[in-house]
Amino acid sequence: MCLFCQIINKEIPSQFVFEDEDMVAFKDIQPQAPVHLLIVPKKHIESLVQLSEVDSDLMGKLIYRAKLLAQENNIDKSGYKLIINTGPDSGQVVEHVHIHLLGGAPLAGLT
Ligand code: 5GP
Ligand code: ZN
Repeated sequence: MCLFCQIINKEIPSQFVFEDEDMVAFKDIQPQAPVHLLIVPKKHIESLVQLSEVDSDLMGKLIYRAKLLAQENNIDKSGYKLIINTGPDSGQVVEHVHIHLLGGAPLAGLT
């Protein structure tokens, strides 16, 4: 089972900030910004490459949750980035699709 599936199943501990039937959100173990959350669907999809049209609504829900988590973390006014690394050239390490929510400091140099 992949690392994020193990986190979703609570076989590996992490700092959850949100959970519903579709997704979890938890703190990144190696934060690249003061706020660095990962928003992860419970369904195992390796990356956007493997995403099918039936799961496009699911991705919309993840983005909407990222927006709400940005508000909760008071970074909606200062601004934030959402990043979805996809495939080898992106540096994607965990092969379970996820959105990085990054903010709380100027991040213009962080792609
Ligand atoms: P990727 O490079 O695949 O887009 O990002 C994977 C992210 O998962 C990285 O930012 C990395 O720090 C984070 N990560 C890797 N292992 C763990 C873990 O065991 N727990 C948590 N909370 N985050 C992890
Ligand atoms: Zn998985």
